[in-house]
Amino acid sequence: MNYFITGGAGFIGSNYVRMLLSSELGPVKSVKVLDKLTYAGSLSNLSEVESDPRFEFILGDICDEELVNKSINAGDVIVHFAAESHVDRSISSPSEFIRTNVLGTHVLLNAAIRKKVNIFLHVSTDEVYGSIEKGDSSELDPLSPNSPYSASKAASDLLVRAYVKTFGLDARITRSCNNFGPNQYPEKFIPLAIKNIQHSSPIPIYGDGTNIREWIHVEDHCKGIQLVIDAGKTGEIYNIGSGFSLSNLEIAQLILKTSGADGSLIEFVTDRLGHDYRYSLRSGKIRNELGFSSPKSQEFEIIKLIQLAFV
Ligand code: NAD
Repeated sequence: MNYFITGGAGFIGSNYVRMLLSSELGPVKSVKVLDKLTYAGSLSNLSEVESDPRFEFILGDICDEELVNKSINAGDVIVHFAAESHVDRSISSPSEFIRTNVLGTHVLLNAAIRKKVNIFLHVSTDEVYGSIEKGDSSELDPLSPNSPYSASKAASDLLVRAYVKTFGLDARITRSCNNFGPNQYPEKFIPLAIKNIQHSSPIPIYGDGTNIREWIHVEDHCKGIQLVIDAGKTGEIYNIGSGFSLSNLEIAQLILKTSGADGSLIEFVTDRLGHDYRYSLRSGKIRNELGFSSPKSQEFEIIKLIQLAFV
């Protein structure tokens, strides 16, 4: 198969590209990455694969219709990661989120139809369901996004749905919980906390730290995406969760304990505007229908990541 990956120089995209070009999977003919290299993307995330003859990097913007049209080929599998992805930035400057996440997705969908691609896999997030006090969000739940980031992702999910229904595009949507692992930009909670401890700086915790997130290792998420490409159904949405949830304060405590740092580094700061209390995914569909599992012990993997940062 020929893959066209957007945002492949970012956190999850680069892990996915590495997985694709590793020997773990079946035949992969070519992997083309289109990435704008914003602050969140880096070619160093792709250094392991740059000499692979199947790999090609294109510097550019998914909103650039001409470039997108000439870069995508008939029969490609598009895996769409490119996005503005940090909630705090979406609160201080939402416009870029609407441009990239909504308009950029629209440009890709049009090109996918025009070029008759094989599959369009749209990578989305649990945040589109909004905050839930208890229970789990299922794929059938209404979208209830609360931040400009999650609203832009929800809008792109709906565009993807419309292109399936109206134009017969073979698109599938995955919605994952919070990822952790290598190559994550240190504005996100775990790498930020690690970096701050390394510099003896405080770890900022919003509000009282009781906000709960579900966590999955990026490699488990990438395997879920591949399962949806290989065995998922057109037009379907698949949640990808691990079932492992912790509050922000618990994560900070785990990082402090593992790194041997002083608990006084925790600093409670004014809560994020509209801060969602809790996300939690019901992931039975991908587990039961496609045989997905998240075999890594998520807590053990978080500890390993922290330990690696402090050797
Ligand atoms: P990231 O911010 O680390 O990477 C985004 C990548 O997209 C970067 O390489 C950036 O340069 C590129 N990009 C941004 N705007 C672009 C544009 N206009 N044109 C081309 N490239 C552009 O993000 P991530 O954490 O790897 O997330 C990838 C996808 O997964 C996003 O769609 C995000 O919504 C989704 N997601 C992330 C998480 C998470 O925990 N990180 C969880 C669920 C879903």
